[in-house]
Amino acid sequence: MQTMFVPIFKGEGRLEYEERPVPQIDQPTDVLVKIEACGICGTDLNILAVPPAHKATPNIIIGHEGVGVVEAVGSGVTGLRPGDRVVIAPRLTCGQCKYCRRGLDNQCTNYSTIGTAIDGAFAPYLRAPQSALYKISASVPRDDAAFFEPLSCVVGSVARAPIQAGDNVAIIGAGPMGLLFAQAYRLLGAGRIIVADVSPYRLSVAEEMGMDVALNPAQVDLPQAVHDLTELGADVVVDAVGNQMGTAIKLARRGGHVILFGLRPHDNPPINQYTITRYDLTIHGAFVGLNPFEQTIQLLESRRLQPSQLITHRVPLSQLAQGVELMRSGKGMKVLVETSSQ
Ligand SMILES: [Zn+2]
Ligand SMILES: [Zn+2]
Repeated sequence: MQTMFVPIFKGEGRLEYEERPVPQIDQPTDVLVKIEACGICGTDLNILAVPPAHKATPNIIIGHEGVGVVEAVGSGVTGLRPGDRVVIAPRLTCGQCKYCRRGLDNQCTNYSTIGTAIDGAFAPYLRAPQSALYKISASVPRDDAAFFEPLSCVVGSVARAPIQAGDNVAIIGAGPMGLLFAQAYRLLGAGRIIVADVSPYRLSVAEEMGMDVALNPAQVDLPQAVHDLTELGADVVVDAVGNQMGTAIKLARRGGHVILFGLRPHDNPPINQYTITRYDLTIHGAFVGLNPFEQTIQLLESRRLQPSQLITHRVPLSQLAQGVELMRSGKGMKVLVETSSQ
């Protein structure tokens, strides 16, 4: 039996390496993927936090931002062949519950995901149902394709609030997700894009990427600065942190839209409800987007966006924990795990 040496999530922030069998085709709809690389996500940091800020099943392989090549397919798989490059849409939805039947696939009551409930992609091989895989052109560089899943969350979330050419956008949080929002809004024709973060390192990456304005709320009065720059306030504000709604509503213009994207389950920020009502703000909760995958493939294949600019470090599979630490400490922006190198 072929085996692979892989990091296993042991609960309480622990990763331990074990020899595991290389997965085999089991169901007719299974696909075996040779994983080339897998990005470390904020979700992985949350899974590995103590106490955890995201649930995951102990004894599984985590990782869901994988890109790889089809190695073998089950007898019932159509449209995918060995040699095809694929990316992972990690949500596993039932298609049968009341939410699935209403088209709210992200609210499936039987929702689970690859890399949190079942084995994920921090491994040389992954077995996944065909429904969770999307074919992507080999012309998309591996490192850009590795952003399929986080980019899909952004594609799904920008769809929530109307945006017109020239609209000013403010984004709180200049981590990988905030900067993917910034790239997406630039393509959507935003006027001024303002990103804010308390990390000078992240702000410098934002500036290197050509963002118009990068502000540090520890150094400037953020609401004042945004109003000075935009006169009325931002047309659209994104909270990519998860506890910044109080600030976000101060950055929006009257009648503006706020997208709440970040997830911080342990935080309870105070909100000034009066501001929302008095200034006619629209607040959108946006959890990973509704069926955003086809458009995300099209966007990546268009090559009009190069998310791999955000990769600051690459680590072999044997150094997953070090990669996680690089992101947690804020010393790295996006860390890519190269799963084929040990
Ligand atoms: Zn992710
Ligand atoms: Zn469902």
